[in-house]
Amino acid sequence: MSDRIHPQIASREATQHILKAFHLRASKRLGQNFLIDGSIVRGIVEAAEIAPKDKVLEIGPGIGTLTQGLAEAGAEVIAVELDKKLPEVLAHTLSGYDHVRIVQGDILKVKLPEIMGDGSFKVVANLPYYITTPILMTLLERRLPITRIVTMVQKEVAERMTAPPGGKDYGALSVAVQYYTEPEIVLEVPPESFLPAPEVDSVVISCRVRETPPVRVQDEKLFFRVVKAAFGQRRKTLSNAMKGAGFEKAKVLEAFEKVGMDAARRGETLSLAEFARLADALV
Ligand code: SAM
Repeated sequence: MSDRIHPQIASREATQHILKAFHLRASKRLGQNFLIDGSIVRGIVEAAEIAPKDKVLEIGPGIGTLTQGLAEAGAEVIAVELDKKLPEVLAHTLSGYDHVRIVQGDILKVKLPEIMGDGSFKVVANLPYYITTPILMTLLERRLPITRIVTMVQKEVAERMTAPPGGKDYGALSVAVQYYTEPEIVLEVPPESFLPAPEVDSVVISCRVRETPPVRVQDEKLFFRVVKAAFGQRRKTLSNAMKGAGFEKAKVLEAFEKVGMDAARRGETLSLAEFARLADALV
């Protein structure tokens, strides 16, 4: 399938030409690092396993490079772009492509259920790095009918998303991503694949959304309150961090005793299953 994908503007020359023609500069503030490597676009489309008519939400289409690849694979693309100057460019770069709709707005503020309509969809993006975590948390917590999220992220963020318990990378983002999805790093992407080149290494990560979470919890909200408390004050023991986050001291100690857990443990050592047991003991 991927040998059919040839986004015309996936090159340094074409991107520079478009920016010049529209009197634009890549905005650092908006995290604009445009893809200029067709093989990476193909890699993303392939990782998303796009089938004709798949509905795809693209976050931040930029000048439309990845959008062209998605449309060539037959996807129905709805792309949300914050930069008010870009819809005019996209009208030009996507003029020959069917089934692409551009929505100008902030991905953290737009009403996604209204924009996406009925049925499930995939999320595919080269994310603006300055708001990667809020975007991922919003997509996961809203429980939208998303089947897969395939995105370019900073390598360091991908390491946090996939981190096992016990290390410095393991945190609230790891727990949330692994609770809702099965994350897998699928492609390493060097800075030269973008214009301008970012100062960090990037990877493409594919997160298959789970139908059922890997651990059962009685109260999901409470589970995530415990997780947030645990990582909110990483240097404290978990019981102290929980007290600091407003949990009642006696209830916290009772819960630790009930599940037979050492109250002096640190949050970063707990697996998803242990967080679940502790949260259930607090219900
Ligand atoms: N998809 C393009 C590509 O791969 O070449 C551009 C990717 S660039 C890393 C990130 C894009 O996200 C930019 O076009 C930027 O303007 C857009 N963006 C930044 N903040 C946004 C937000 N809050 N909502 C929607 N788009 C945003």
